[in-house]
Amino acid sequence: MSLDGFVRCTCIRDGKAKPHPFPDRLIFDESGEPTLTGDPSEEEWEAHDQWLGESCEHEGFLLSLFLGNITRVQNLRSFLRHLQGSPGPRFPILLEKVLYDGTHTGDLLSSKVAAKLLKEVETVLHSSDILADSEKEFFNNMKQLCDASIATGNPIMF
Ligand SMILES: [Zn+2]
Repeated sequence: MSLDGFVRCTCIRDGKAKPHPFPDRLIFDESGEPTLTGDPSEEEWEAHDQWLGESCEHEGFLLSLFLGNITRVQNLRSFLRHLQGSPGPRFPILLEKVLYDGTHTGDLLSSKVAAKLLKEVETVLHSSDILADSEKEFFNNMKQLCDASIATGNPIMF
């Protein structure tokens, strides 16, 4: 069990992907995931899923990064709590939306939130000399996910 982060690519939206088998039934859900409307049959879902797996060179995902296992997430949480000060720095998105649990899946952070999250991540990376290698890896991966989310407008998914 671990925490991973994903950002979808925009090839389908940009018309760079393989043609869909039923293009007029293709829609995007709130996560930017391509899906079908109009009560699709079993066979139609299969055709859609097969298309999705080979629709573009990214197989739909620009980034897919391992963030940590439960222990690392716990360590990162206590590290950040110690780093918080009053007055600032504060890490509300990192603590409440990313590191609140080592295995949350199905969560989304919009690209708007990703822009704020990037500021928190950069604050930590400014003091990278106090970070252990595994902590650095986590914050560098978070930065890449934020950058990709901001660039594509797609959410960060966990
Ligand atoms: Zn792509």
